Amino acid sequence: MRGFESILDQKQPIRILTTFLHRRAMPHALLFTGIEGVGKRMTAMVFAMACNCTENITNKKEHDTKIPLQQSPCGCCNTCRRIESERHPDVILIKPVRAVIRIAQIRSLCQTLALKPYEARTRVVIISDAQAMNPEAGNALLKILEEPPAHTILILTATQTTDLLPTVVSRCLHIRFQPISRKSLETFLAKSDALSDEDAVIIASMANGSLSKALSMIKPANLKYWINQRKWLIHDSGLDAPASLSSRPVASLLAFAERLSKNKKNLPDFLEVMKIWLRDLVIWKFNPKLIINKDLTQKIQYASQQIDLESLISKIKAIEVAEKDIRANANTRLALEVMFLRLVTN
Ligand SMILES: [Zn+2]
Repeated sequence: MRGFESILDQKQPIRILTTFLHRRAMPHALLFTGIEGVGKRMTAMVFAMACNCTENITNKKEHDTKIPLQQSPCGCCNTCRRIESERHPDVILIKPVRAVIRIAQIRSLCQTLALKPYEARTRVVIISDAQAMNPEAGNALLKILEEPPAHTILILTATQTTDLLPTVVSRCLHIRFQPISRKSLETFLAKSDALSDEDAVIIASMANGSLSKALSMIKPANLKYWINQRKWLIHDSGLDAPASLSSRPVASLLAFAERLSKNKKNLPDFLEVMKIWLRDLVIWKFNPKLIINKDLTQKIQYASQQIDLESLISKIKAIEVAEKDIRANANTRLALEVMFLRLVTN
């Protein structure tokens, strides 16, 4: 890991963090929110490095708070390297153990924070997946946030603020991380030797803004699954021939909706695949070179010619409505059934 430049996208969060470094004015607690795999924890680590990097800061200048800290860590000094490899005593990483952050972990943190930092200018505590704190752990953390220890920054990461105690959220400065753009993922994946350019484009679109998801999808054991999964989805949803969807027995589509609803973990990616397929059918009408599913060009050409633009756009909207309802905790199966009925009738 090097400095902030090794983080994909996230210009806004990095701009905020580098401003703190420049002004040497740090908040006591930060909350990073965003979907899984957009670089929240990595950014927290780089920030911890930047707060403590010894490069360019001589001992004399160390305590002169008027001198701005450099805005990205060097990544190679002894301090940076120990932070990166999680061996620095003053950069404390707390993460769920078997999916839960328990009170014992926060109590032990309290004991550590009662002492001065061992050596760091700024001690950094990263609580990764803070939504995994059980209520007791959350309340214990609240006590720390109410009386923040000196020379210490707490950084919480979570998917969304609603997963946390409102009292915890209100004591943190909230920084939102956006999903990584498809283009950035594509450029990143294209550098991988294990991937053809064609597959890089497909995986970048399926990963839905998450680098960790993209990296998991391109593992040799998974790549073929995801590439084929896409073909299966397009075929079984009837979207390979969207113009003749209305002649498909409704019962088979509802059964498909039920099957999809059982895979909650991958459902957002599945819906994204369906949307991107329909988007390709739209794009084909204007600029065929820009389609994403390049390996399915012939199918796209055929399907696109069979259906008009207006109908495609209402189908994309039907999927977007389902995505929104599912995010708002609607009944997944019902939302998908409604979606398929709209796909058929629009
Ligand atoms: Zn350094």
